[in-house]
Amino acid sequence: MELFVVNRNKDIADLSANYLFREITQRKNQFLQKNPDAKLINLGIGDTTQPLSSSVVDSFIKKAHALKTPEGYQGYGDDFGLLELRKQIASKLYNNRVDEADVFISDGAKCDLGRLQLLFDRTARITIQDPSYPVYIDTSLITGKNEIVYMSCSPENHFFKNLDELPSTDLIAICSPNNPTGAVLSHSQLKSLVDEAKRRKSVILFDAAYSNFIQDSSCPRSIYEIEGAKEVAIEINSFSKLAGFTGVRLGWSVVPKELTFNDGTSIQKDWIKIITTFFNGASNLAQQGGLACLSNDGLIHSKNTALYYLENAAALKQVFEQNGYKCYGGVNAPYLWIDLKGQKSWDVFDHFLTYAGLITTPGIGFGPSGEGFLRISAFAHKECVVEAVSRFENIFKKNKKEVYLTNF
Ligand code: PLP
Repeated sequence: MELFVVNRNKDIADLSANYLFREITQRKNQFLQKNPDAKLINLGIGDTTQPLSSSVVDSFIKKAHALKTPEGYQGYGDDFGLLELRKQIASKLYNNRVDEADVFISDGAKCDLGRLQLLFDRTARITIQDPSYPVYIDTSLITGKNEIVYMSCSPENHFFKNLDELPSTDLIAICSPNNPTGAVLSHSQLKSLVDEAKRRKSVILFDAAYSNFIQDSSCPRSIYEIEGAKEVAIEINSFSKLAGFTGVRLGWSVVPKELTFNDGTSIQKDWIKIITTFFNGASNLAQQGGLACLSNDGLIHSKNTALYYLENAAALKQVFEQNGYKCYGGVNAPYLWIDLKGQKSWDVFDHFLTYAGLITTPGIGFGPSGEGFLRISAFAHKECVVEAVSRFENIFKKNKKEVYLTNF
């Protein structure tokens, strides 16, 4: 084969592939080949299952109808998003703690996490939680940042390390409520993070994609609930888990005007440059849907949907705890993080797949500190969770007869 002359991007070539979900799919397919009638239940992915609210769908339809009229047709919108949506986010979700001019609408948190990395020089060092959502590491490496400090998070340190225990870095990526551990940071933990970042002059990238799951009113839903956070933190968030928009695609980032680089120039100004270069604004249909999500009805629907998933989490947590497993998360987050009492996470994954047709996620896929843990996602239909609980019970009773053929 004739080779092209162009060099491969070295930063992508250097990326060590994360095989987690590919490996899960491979093992699942092998199992299905041997057991074609198996009724698998997937508790392994972080994707929503519950339908959108009627008011959101009505808003899409209304906008779509307007688009077919000469008066209602709209092409490109504002690169930063509809002003009304930015205002509603600032007032309804941040209680006006942030300025609407600092809210930038996007096509989702993952896309923004990638674009935000472009703001910082490739020599920037970054602290990342271990275990963590793999995107923080991969976007760092793809943008040439290979000096990564890992903040090892375990039950022993309540899934958080004070920064003064770690070397100083330019950037700190933090996710609360956390994927995969389900841990949520307390006010005092976040305050210590902000204070220490200020002392070190580091910028925090705070991923709050699961903030609507927080039930404990003493835990901050936004880093801006901490005084002074606007001087050190960018917050990334999304309608994906707030309103089931994983397929619709809509998110936002708050990039406060107070933030500067070490030469005194504005981070927000560069962010605007990145948005206008790499992005042409979020879909106008999705943004209308976003406005409907933030109406009173929409917010009630989101709250009830979060409670639905949290009930799933509670049922799953109970079956593990009753069988002697320590189980973290699931209270302010849709993920359970199960301590496997020394067993390897892929072994337990295989066990649940083989004997119960249940797909989970091995903790090792989220980083070395995830070994010995299993992530279970509560994003599932209730009937599936009821059936999954009964299959887990069977497994724990050492009843290894095949339980994966049950219809539900
Ligand atoms: N941040 C975290 C911690 C996530 O777990 C996810 C998706 O699972 C995302 C961001 C991506 O969200 P979005 O759908 O808005 O791209």
